[in-house]
Amino acid sequence: MLKKEHSQTVNVDPQLPVTEQPVGVMPRISFERACLLAKMGITTIGDLFFYIPLRYEDKRNVRKISTLEKGEQALVFGKVIECGVQKFRRSRKFLTKAIIEDESGKLHCHWWNQRWPAESLKPEREVIIFGKVDSLHPPQMSNPEFEVKVGYDNSRLGIGRIVPIYSLTEGVPQWWIRDLISRALDRFLKDLPHGYVYESELGFPSRPRAVQMLHHPAVPGEEELARKRLAMDELLDMQMEIQRRRKNLLALAHGIKCPGNNLLIRPFLKNLDFTLTPSQTEVLREIRADLNSGVPMRRLLQGDVGSGKTVVAASVALMVMEAGYQVVLMAPTEILASQHVKTFRKWFEPLGVRVRQWTGRLKDEADSMELLEKGSAAGKTEIVIGTHALIEDTFQIEKLGLVIIDEQHKFGVDQRERLLKKGSWPHLLAMTATPIPRTLGLTLYGELDISSIKHPPEGRGTIRTFIRKRDKLPAVWEFVKKRLIEGRQTYVVYPMIDETSNPELKAVEAEFSRIAKRIAPFKAGLLHGRMKGSEKEYVMQQFAHNLVQLLVTTSVVEVGVDVPNATVMIVENAERFGLAQLHQFRGRIGRGKENSFCILIVGNSAEDSMKRLKILAESRDGFRIAEEDLKIRGPGDFLGDRQHGMPSFRFAKLLEDYALVQRARKIAIESVQEG
Ligand code: ADP
Ligand code: MG
Repeated sequence: MLKKEHSQTVNVDPQLPVTEQPVGVMPRISFERACLLAKMGITTIGDLFFYIPLRYEDKRNVRKISTLEKGEQALVFGKVIECGVQKFRRSRKFLTKAIIEDESGKLHCHWWNQRWPAESLKPEREVIIFGKVDSLHPPQMSNPEFEVKVGYDNSRLGIGRIVPIYSLTEGVPQWWIRDLISRALDRFLKDLPHGYVYESELGFPSRPRAVQMLHHPAVPGEEELARKRLAMDELLDMQMEIQRRRKNLLALAHGIKCPGNNLLIRPFLKNLDFTLTPSQTEVLREIRADLNSGVPMRRLLQGDVGSGKTVVAASVALMVMEAGYQVVLMAPTEILASQHVKTFRKWFEPLGVRVRQWTGRLKDEADSMELLEKGSAAGKTEIVIGTHALIEDTFQIEKLGLVIIDEQHKFGVDQRERLLKKGSWPHLLAMTATPIPRTLGLTLYGELDISSIKHPPEGRGTIRTFIRKRDKLPAVWEFVKKRLIEGRQTYVVYPMIDETSNPELKAVEAEFSRIAKRIAPFKAGLLHGRMKGSEKEYVMQQFAHNLVQLLVTTSVVEVGVDVPNATVMIVENAERFGLAQLHQFRGRIGRGKENSFCILIVGNSAEDSMKRLKILAESRDGFRIAEEDLKIRGPGDFLGDRQHGMPSFRFAKLLEDYALVQRARKIAIESVQEG
């Protein structure tokens, strides 16, 4: 039954830009259809313009019937010779049959249980047929698409051109959305602003032209050119924003000068039980220059897991303190924050520098300590180390000269900015062990200068990675026991995807008791996200001091934890983790002189994950692993969640468009400098 569509065309609002006109300005959209369009994410003309086709069908070439080949999709133009409906009484089915002829031969078409083709396919009419050739002798197609040529313009029909195929929702036919978009382009595309104009050397079409090409490429490949142009616009938007922020920083801020008198740093380096690597020294030189430049430092320190970023951070902190300023260090977990507190106390207390902890649990304690101290002049607090709690309003600090953010990828841009606001243009040193794929580096951290520690300290043992199926567990445990007897320690990591889930917690606890029995007389400890801060710290301390030899844990040990005597890591259900995360876990071992072993346990039937995990077994190159992970899981997953300031693009593809990102950055820098 045909239903009359009630369309309520609305008037174009001259105040609005064309992309924001509601779709209702298009005639022939019923209320019902408008709802379906909204479900597809289309409410404006702009949404129609930028609705990216899923794929394209090349219907440019009209084929002679005699040249058709079996199995191919082909387009034929001919005249209807006859058409009729055949009924089957028993099954109550019917079949519409038509014969189409061109100068080379005849094509038989049929449609099961559809009458309507017969209404259009009257003899002598010219038609265009598109479909798959089912058989030859005679050539035959079942359920082909067709259009009757009745003296009107064919340009909008899905024929004689490369035709876009859109993703749909139920109740919206392909031809309808195609027609709607096509009409919207005809009517409104002329009003779309040209957008950024950049060097013609890129060979990009104008913005309106690109939108046209996106939907109706004249030759294959034009749609990709169009995508690139539109991607470039998105990337430029973002890079312009980044560069403007940066320009503001340069114009408004006056950087805190830290010339350094070496009174702290010299004894610090002398007392260290190792010497800095050339990579570390080089990075420190870059940072020293930043601290003196008169502009607030905005630097990202990249270095693979275990490359020794902490000692660099400590050195930078001392440089700033030498100038009389205080320092804040923020880490993503309590475990990591308290580990840093211990390390920094060991390093700084001999220098007379006070280290204070500020985590969710310890801040009250710190507050009361503060009160006690008010009376005494002794021991000025000079570095405060904590977690997210540092961002809260209750935390205030005088003379903030430097903010250090460890494992920066675990924080959002907002969090970073809020912490920086606690002072007046303090310097920023953000650190990350997650190697950032190049494109993400420029997009996410576009406003940061990047330093890298390229080589880890020498004299480390090797790390070998094995993938083992569950049925090999007995042998794995034999191996673990041998290492324990040799005096080494072990991590066993369980995937607890949701640390608040009781069943998952139970499973980990049950495993823990089993393992504890198995490794006796060696001692096992349990560490997971549900434990209280003090409990976590207690267990971590026991492990760090080798009072516990095996740590059963969850992803809470992902970042930062540093126990060089631990040389074995077993990851259970390794297929449930992303590669970048596994790489982080693996960074917990291989920190001492001894050789280390990472054993990934996978389900018996997990062939796919075996392939994926092999990348990890073969490579210790964090960059390669991160890029693979990004390919497999996409940027959202790679970074955890949107909170991390991950821009969402419609056209730009962060992995493929590296050259575009670079170009956009360059153009943005030039134009912001001029403007
Ligand atoms: P990450 O870069 O992953 O944060 P850490 O800063 O925790 O790495 O350093 C890993 C280990 O390497 C620590 O035990 C640290 O003391 C040690 N280390 C750092 N720099 C050197 C060096 N130059 N020589 C020897 N060991 C070093
Ligand atoms: Mg670290």
